[in-house]
Amino acid sequence: MSRTYANWQDRAATLAIEGRAFIDGELRHARDGKTFACESPIDGRVLARVADCGAADVDAAVAVARRAFTAQSWAGQNPRQRKAVLQRWAALMREHLEELALLETLDSGKPIGDTIHIDIPAAAHCVDWYAEAIDKIGGEVAPVDHHLVGLVTREPVGVVAAVVPWNFPLLMAAWKFGPALAAGNSVVLKPSEKSPLTAIRVAQLAIEAGLPPGVFNVVPGTGEAGRLLALHRDVDCIAFTGSTRTGRAIMECAAQSNLKRVWLELGGKSPNIVLPDCPDLDRAAQAAADAIFFNMGEVCTAGSRLLVHRDIKDVFIDKVIAAARRYVPGDPLDPAVTMGAIVDQIQLDRVLDYIESGRREGRLVAGGARVREETGGFYVQPTVFEVKPDARIAREEIFGPVLSVIAFDTIDEAVSIANDTEYGLAAAVWSADLATAHEVARRLRAGTVWVNGYADGSDDMNFPFGGYRQSGNGRDKSLHALEKYTELKSTIVRLR
Ligand code: NAD
Repeated sequence: MSRTYANWQDRAATLAIEGRAFIDGELRHARDGKTFACESPIDGRVLARVADCGAADVDAAVAVARRAFTAQSWAGQNPRQRKAVLQRWAALMREHLEELALLETLDSGKPIGDTIHIDIPAAAHCVDWYAEAIDKIGGEVAPVDHHLVGLVTREPVGVVAAVVPWNFPLLMAAWKFGPALAAGNSVVLKPSEKSPLTAIRVAQLAIEAGLPPGVFNVVPGTGEAGRLLALHRDVDCIAFTGSTRTGRAIMECAAQSNLKRVWLELGGKSPNIVLPDCPDLDRAAQAAADAIFFNMGEVCTAGSRLLVHRDIKDVFIDKVIAAARRYVPGDPLDPAVTMGAIVDQIQLDRVLDYIESGRREGRLVAGGARVREETGGFYVQPTVFEVKPDARIAREEIFGPVLSVIAFDTIDEAVSIANDTEYGLAAAVWSADLATAHEVARRLRAGTVWVNGYADGSDDMNFPFGGYRQSGNGRDKSLHALEKYTELKSTIVRLR
């Protein structure tokens, strides 16, 4: 049944919300009883008090994760059995689709249509996809001297900590715990303090699916809980998605403690280049608008820099403004709404500050205002500026619905502007000449490059996802992500 706005409002009013941590297969309050208020960006109301995990809770979660790993209660199971458990878990996420989508929407301000059709199904698919790999990937036999047998195998790294952001709360978490669990590890997940609810709920479902206690734990809390995980001497690997600043801090913590493996998925300022022979300006304009206004611009691969050839710039800006009309901020519980709330007051202030900076440095061509303030929630219009490449809003990651349009005259200039950034997460190029498009794609320093599209294939697990330079290291998604959560072992057997 497809639910109406009124249905969702009713359901939201009666939804039971769990805010306790999940450690060793059970819900627990923080050891010292501390909680924080989990507020909805839709209207500012407090949804729940959530456990504010500190050192004692982090230590407890890591200890039970270690115990489960040492006992081999998960890694030691038959691969087909482990596959079945993860598949059951994914199936349970789908069974609880409406509940999880509603939690995610209330917690993060994302439109219900997106959480129902994108976030939760994609998270379940991710778990399923890695489950499928468990009984299919083996090791290697090395071509060595005849008197030896050489095996090259991958073993789970041990206890994996996952620290994740709020923009796709469950999906970003699944990109870590999916492959980490498939590889046989124990996991301690620290969701963002801005969006902890779905992580706690899926942890309960994990037990229902048959994951042994202690294998998957959730410690909600502030950045301090993340810092404690990064510093912990019994965490073998930390997988992080979030800002470049926090990524740097996590690397420092790893260096100061036990040199745990550190995998970082960080920020971006991705260029979307439209050459004058772009094959379809209308489609490109819609893609350019979607690239920055989908999910309120709270997307690490957002196409936040639109580089347009000067000959078509004015025409193209008009088309982008027209395409942006599909993004009207509204109540995220209304299934017709495509643009929800900014995640919290802090992020709202940050976005508005960048808009002020844009007014000083460039030409505002659309939007630029906070709206729906009377709701108590945090909403911003889709906003478009025309700026020079060195403007602050064209260089720094805003993580909001603010597009910087930059004109260029030559392909070399476009490539040079595109690559002139500390980031390198994604990029796109539009041209009817595929040879030109390929050449430009090759010159773009980014982990993902789209040609004549933007964000295509995002729902496909096959593509490695991650960045060059300060957008991070390692890759989420794809079979390559499994490698991050394993150690390589050489076993050499002398026959005689
Ligand atoms: P953030 O860095 O502020 O927080 C991310 C997580 O780290 C949260 O759980 C937070 O509690 C925790 N944290 C904060 N300080 C910490 C510390 N000192 N040590 C350990 N953990 C700490 O980022 P955010 O505001 O939640 O998310 C927005 C950022 O995430 C943007 O920069 C965006 O580009 C990035 N992001 C990247 C990807 C990607 O795959 N590359 C995906 C989504 C978001």
